[in-house]
Amino acid sequence: MTTRPGRRQRIRVTGVVQGVGFRPFVYGIALRFGLAGHVGNDSGGVFIEVEGPADNLNSFVEALRSEPPPLAHVERITVEEMQTRGDDDFVIVHSEAHPQRATLISPDLCTCDDCLRELTDPADRRYRYAFINCTNCGPRYTIIQDIPYDRPLTTMAAFPMCPTCQAEYDDPLDRRFHAQPNACPDCGPQIWLEEAGVRLAGDAIAAAQRIIADGGIVAIKGLGGFHLACDAANDNAVARLRERKHRPAKPFALMAPSVQQVRTFAHLDPAEEAALTSRERPILLLRKHEPNTLSARIAPGNATIGVMLPYTPLHFLLVTDRPFVMTSGNISGEPIVTDNDDARLKLGGLADAFLMHNRAIHTPCDDSVIRRFQGVDLPVRRSRGYAPFPIRLPLAAPPLLATGGELKATFCLAEGEKAFMSQHIGDMANLSTLDAFTHAADHMARLFRIEPEAIITDSHPGYLSNRWAHEQSTSLVEVQHHHAHIAAVMAEHSHPNEPVIGFAFDGTGYGTDGTIWGGEVLIADYGTFERAAYLKPVPLAGGDVSVQRPYRLAMSHLYAAGLDWDIPTLAICPPEERQILERQFTIGLNTVPTSSMGRLFDAVSALAGVCQHATYEAQAAIELESIAAHDVHKGYSFALDGAVIDPAPVIAAIVTDLNAGAPAPVIAAKFHNAVAAMIARVAAHLRDIHGVHTVAFSGGVFQNTLLLEKTRPHLTDFNVLTHRLVPPNDGGLALGQAAIGSHRLTR
Ligand code: ZN
Ligand code: ZN
Ligand code: FE
Repeated sequence: MTTRPGRRQRIRVTGVVQGVGFRPFVYGIALRFGLAGHVGNDSGGVFIEVEGPADNLNSFVEALRSEPPPLAHVERITVEEMQTRGDDDFVIVHSEAHPQRATLISPDLCTCDDCLRELTDPADRRYRYAFINCTNCGPRYTIIQDIPYDRPLTTMAAFPMCPTCQAEYDDPLDRRFHAQPNACPDCGPQIWLEEAGVRLAGDAIAAAQRIIADGGIVAIKGLGGFHLACDAANDNAVARLRERKHRPAKPFALMAPSVQQVRTFAHLDPAEEAALTSRERPILLLRKHEPNTLSARIAPGNATIGVMLPYTPLHFLLVTDRPFVMTSGNISGEPIVTDNDDARLKLGGLADAFLMHNRAIHTPCDDSVIRRFQGVDLPVRRSRGYAPFPIRLPLAAPPLLATGGELKATFCLAEGEKAFMSQHIGDMANLSTLDAFTHAADHMARLFRIEPEAIITDSHPGYLSNRWAHEQSTSLVEVQHHHAHIAAVMAEHSHPNEPVIGFAFDGTGYGTDGTIWGGEVLIADYGTFERAAYLKPVPLAGGDVSVQRPYRLAMSHLYAAGLDWDIPTLAICPPEERQILERQFTIGLNTVPTSSMGRLFDAVSALAGVCQHATYEAQAAIELESIAAHDVHKGYSFALDGAVIDPAPVIAAIVTDLNAGAPAPVIAAKFHNAVAAMIARVAAHLRDIHGVHTVAFSGGVFQNTLLLEKTRPHLTDFNVLTHRLVPPNDGGLALGQAAIGSHRLTR
């Protein structure tokens, strides 16, 4: 060993630093500054030892901070001095398993431009290869079985690399250096087309395209699960897909080949285009152009349409000329199908053919869905491309698991300042979703080495997640539903533990008095809340039935307002049902009082004749938002009496308008204006009483961007918190539970 003048440092880098080309980057800058030593991955992140002249060491650390590779998220760099060892060169060393420490894992990311160039280059050895990827793109979270992130611990372990791929993998100067999913047509996964259980010979992509062009439905195995695809312009094909999926109206998402094509059927502002083309590639809810050439059955009654661009090489090869419907391949309400055999079993009756591949999907991951509101993300579903990137908590959490709610369930594992929100799990109303939840929670806990000391759950005794939480031996914290909503939006803004005026408007949540809440105004911090105002409860007869038949909610509201049911739009209610309802309301039989704002939207939607039967969640409210006239500035008026917000005058005024022949778009607009004005009055009133100047909006009702748009101008002298990172719906609930849980457990 020779001794050199200079110093040696041990450097540790944490964050998303694995599987993103970080070691070759370190190698490159070590060479640039003439330093010796080594770099490697362990389960805590990247470790580096460098030796050389002091100035060069400083420049090296500066470069580490200032020029990391595009997909890296550097969280922390720590530097320690050590004895020089006289190394001669700089090397990349093998990964070390380090069971105590966990690093961050990158979400799955869209194919990069370099790979796309190769994919379309006839001279490239990966020309039209459906699994092309590199250090800067490709599958990550969905293929990782354990950490450290290395090929043997991914579903790529089944594909030994050919010498050419191996050489790329071993070359620190290659774009595929240690790209764990690296593969080529000679050694990697393959696709094929299957019809009636028979694997067809020939070009699988061309065959799938032909079936779709001919009006067929193809189940396509993608990154995080199967999609069901058909031609978005073919009305019969879309109708058949709806019928087979038993999904009469809930919108289908599309995958379109290009931004230019999206512009032919949807409006796209620059912020929306940026989100559409981002490497996360979410489904974007865009305003439809009317008329357009798409099937009218894709998003009936909706002013928006969900659109994404291709994000895997398979999609780039497949979706080239026309938009496809691309909807999750699952049986209604169940988790997305990921396994080939499972797909044959469960999707066999839905699809005319299967476009399969043999790379296993370890973690199911549905597409993410976002809206853009005034240039900022408004997530509707946070899943592929985002999970499992952590959200920073405003307070340090002990290791905990927050179970989320029931619909659109996600969970949250948290420790310290990191909250790992799961991918979308589904509606936790059946055992297969509960099973998917426990499976996913175990896997994520293992990946991030978090051993929960407590479980945080919704206080609703009827939620499967609540019952599951009670069966665990871990200590338990129950959190009120709307408190969790408000804490979620506070937490994602790193709001300190100071009270806010929280508007939690949603469909259903279990109240502290055992009734159904959902039109709540809370003075809340992370520790506690006060129900400062709420929508006056109306009787809900037979919960689920009424949610599916919004006309019953109109009748609830008319009854509560002391108005009769003799309204043409309610003629839809059969006489027998009318009699039963009347009796139920009069004697209070099988009714639960609800203060739900979501149900008020349903009621108004039915009254206005917009939606009287709902086949998917929030359909009536979405259709009401969709038809609202944009040039109506008058509104109805809620009565405010102490803590009670009474909708009766609104209902009465709507009836008057209906009798005067007012069209539904006008009623819809006046109702939105009324809710916006009511929010402003309640906020001002509570500010005067409590001296609180921050307003927070959460709950599924705040997915309604028309409502947000109408509300914001009233609140110019408030600090306003709306969701940007997690959904306002129950998909964001677990984050709020985690924040409240941490506060209670550490107080
Ligand atoms: Zn790439
Ligand atoms: Zn190969
Ligand atoms: Fe909710």
